[in-house]
Amino acid sequence: FQYPAPSNEPVLTYAPGTKERELLKQTLKQLKSIEHDIPMYIGDKEVRTGKKIALRPPHEIAHTLGYFHEGDETHVQQAIDAALKAKAKWTALAWEDRAAIFLKAADLISTKYRSYINGTTMLGQSKNAFQAEIDSACELIDFLRWNVHFLSEIYRQQPVSSPGIHNRTEWRPLEGFVLAITPFNFTAIGGNLPTSAALCGNTVIWKPAYTQVFSAQMFMRILKEAGLPDGVINLIYVDGPVLGKVCFGHKDFAGIHFTGSTAAFNHIYKTIGENISHYRTYPRIVGETGGKDFVLAHESADADVLATALLRGAFEFQGQKCSAASRAYIPANLAASVKEKLVAGIKSFKIGTVEDFSNFINAVIDERSFNKIQSYLDKVKQDPTKATILAGGNSDKTKGYFIEPTVIEAKDPKFVTMCEEIFGPVLTIYVYPTGEFEKTLELVDSTSPYALTGSIIAQDRAAIDLATNRLRNAAGNFYINDKPTGAVVGQQPFGGARASGTNDKAGSMLNLYRWLSARTIKETF
Ligand code: GLU
Repeated sequence: FQYPAPSNEPVLTYAPGTKERELLKQTLKQLKSIEHDIPMYIGDKEVRTGKKIALRPPHEIAHTLGYFHEGDETHVQQAIDAALKAKAKWTALAWEDRAAIFLKAADLISTKYRSYINGTTMLGQSKNAFQAEIDSACELIDFLRWNVHFLSEIYRQQPVSSPGIHNRTEWRPLEGFVLAITPFNFTAIGGNLPTSAALCGNTVIWKPAYTQVFSAQMFMRILKEAGLPDGVINLIYVDGPVLGKVCFGHKDFAGIHFTGSTAAFNHIYKTIGENISHYRTYPRIVGETGGKDFVLAHESADADVLATALLRGAFEFQGQKCSAASRAYIPANLAASVKEKLVAGIKSFKIGTVEDFSNFINAVIDERSFNKIQSYLDKVKQDPTKATILAGGNSDKTKGYFIEPTVIEAKDPKFVTMCEEIFGPVLTIYVYPTGEFEKTLELVDSTSPYALTGSIIAQDRAAIDLATNRLRNAAGNFYINDKPTGAVVGQQPFGGARASGTNDKAGSMLNLYRWLSARTIKETF
């Protein structure tokens, strides 16, 4: 059946006095009022191992949301067995029936569980209501609906036939199981990675980041309510090395859908390579990894557009996006006014818990992340000849993992915070001599190994054109006069190459092709 392109889910405002705001506040209270006991979902079982790990809101570490049960090698094996067992029936199901389950899950989030998807994201991942609405509820709904559309387009693609010969393509799922490893920063990615592969007829082991478990299990429950058969997606909480040992050593390992760090992905890639002769088929390796995303301003840039792109691009969700603006190149003619706007913008941001909707900045995800970000701030403080802090720079982990949004000015364009991914609310700017735009283009392209997102801010069309061409390989998502974050499913397919991943564009047909293995059938009569 044909599923036309859906419209994107409308984003609710949560303005004071709105119904959605009241409902979300109630849901947050309800979610905090009980201690959650969260099982793994393996086949038809809810598995509680007794090895409990506490979940705490990153902005309120004195509160315990509940516990999830950690598994070990046996549970990975059980999940693989359950996935393989469920495969035949799932694959035999008409694809329309598979699609209906995910479309129903989208509708359930849209109409019934929106406040729960947003609420678990807010509390578990310290994401404010407005960000949660955009990239948890809405983006997840969009992924579910758009993937059905993309797949219906793929299934339509057939070779030509001629009298006496009938050719067709059978879009088979992969042979074996697919592993989805998902990050804490986007509940929508958490939902997309297992479901896109499952929609294509695969069965999946889903391992979310421990810091994403609260929203991940919520989504899993919604999938069950939507009618997802047992074993199609198996949600397990295990340590990375334990998971890798069992999955990457298994002959039926058919592919991995990964979002996370470059280091972890490199390790996975190598391990798969080392095991290559064990597998029945070459596994599909799809990864979206790190970023060191740039905003390059030309001397013709509008200073307000630039400041907004930086403030939103660098600091929304505490900069914990692979796409976050983290290095900016500003021409000297604009430096004074842009710095002033950045400092004023940062002063206007309120920092605190997600329950107070007026807080723009919440906590970073955990102590490890807090310490890592802190160590970069320390590097700046140690040597003021190389870089200085223009705004922010303080941190406090007594109640939660709070880091002030920080702007660093680097005197050296290759200063460490211009090159390395920090994954926090830290923006480094470098002021280049007006007139050295072309030279700066080279700098942008050569400073970091990543190539995820980037922006050019300019009014001069020739400058836009030059940047678009010269920076062709520096970003998989390139933005003109906008922030480099916030790709919308169906509108800006997302992903980058170089050290940022395999660029299999989440939210596009390209991504779904990776979960299919075509068979060509020729019949002669
Ligand atoms: N798709 C997100 C965006 O456009 C980024 C995803 C990520 O951080 O992995 O901002």
